[in-house]
Amino acid sequence: MSRQGEADERRMTPLAVKLASRIAAAGPIPVRDYMAACLADPDYGYYRAQQAIGSAGDFITAPEISQVFGELLGLWSAVVWQQMGAPSSFQLVEIGPGRGTMMADTLRATRRVPGFADAAKIVLVEPSPVLQARQKEALARARDDMRWLTDLADVASGPTILLANEVLDVLPITQLVRAEAAWHERTIALDDNGALAFGLDSEPWPGPLPAVAATAPAGSILEVRGLRGVARDLSRMAGAGSFAALLIDYGHEATGFGDTLQAVRRHETEHPLASPGEADLTAMVDFEAAAAAFADVGLVAERLVTQAEFLGALGIAERASRLMSANPSRAGEIEMGAARLISPQGMGTRFKALGLRSADVPSLPGFPQQPDAASPAPAAAR
Ligand code: SAH
Repeated sequence: MSRQGEADERRMTPLAVKLASRIAAAGPIPVRDYMAACLADPDYGYYRAQQAIGSAGDFITAPEISQVFGELLGLWSAVVWQQMGAPSSFQLVEIGPGRGTMMADTLRATRRVPGFADAAKIVLVEPSPVLQARQKEALARARDDMRWLTDLADVASGPTILLANEVLDVLPITQLVRAEAAWHERTIALDDNGALAFGLDSEPWPGPLPAVAATAPAGSILEVRGLRGVARDLSRMAGAGSFAALLIDYGHEATGFGDTLQAVRRHETEHPLASPGEADLTAMVDFEAAAAAFADVGLVAERLVTQAEFLGALGIAERASRLMSANPSRAGEIEMGAARLISPQGMGTRFKALGLRSADVPSLPGFPQQPDAASPAPAAAR
């Protein structure tokens, strides 16, 4: 499990010092508390302090790669709004808007959809004050009536279209390690030199486990993300129907095993304990578990698709060529950006799109129709 050079690379960042004294006083902490502290510690959390996102930051995301991404999500939202019967008022919510780029592109692309801009109440959910300020700057010219909230739990119910790109991956995970007889929670402890090190809780994990856990060989690592809070918030918004959500993230289709905790600083991966609070810390989304968590609260999950399939179905190729003809001097950059979003070497297959809706909303655009359970399966061609 050791990655090259990991031992030498631990830096005593201010957050490492704070966590080490907490662990010295009260004992090892679960990985999920470590992740939460790294990202959201009020003094030293990564998203509290850093200009993380973008080519000059630590990592780059789809909306920062190409304006086409946010534009297509805008057009997707407009179609969904029409499918809902074009309600005269609805909320367009984005969770974790980063630098505000995606919402700016979304709003620009939908400006000319009749009635859409007037009906949309824009709500941005962002816990980081630094990023909220960045978003306000980026969106100042788009509209002057947007609302910012720090907590998803404060979003009102009612007709809603919700977008989130690369947000599920920052929600803290629990890591479990299979020992001979049971699963134990992975912790962050201190080594002999007082530096942060991975440890293992001596008590068996008392929480629920997915069915696949039963077959795992010793040494397997299982990651469990607590999505119940988010699912509850979405189901409350969807209470009266007319709800749709699009969650795009990197992850795998089915629950599996392996350590996916990943720290990224200045566009390079590093050991997750190397520089607490100064690197982005994420873990892959288990989309099987996520879809189940949302289905549990009554939302309908569309069939999971790759980002390439989703953006392809929304017409990324046509949109990029139109943009290239209108901006010949930027044609190369536009073409490369769009290619990176959909190519298998880029983000095309690693990233997936999860569509969620309340049962009254028709199948969402960009997702293949679910096979109808009532009709017989088509005979396979042999
Ligand atoms: N969507 C943006 C940013 C992704 S980075 C993009 O694609 O570029 C993750 C974002 O989620 C940041 O804005 C971060 O501050 C925010 N975030 C982190 N924890 C969150 C939480 N619990 N609820 C909502 N947003 C959160």
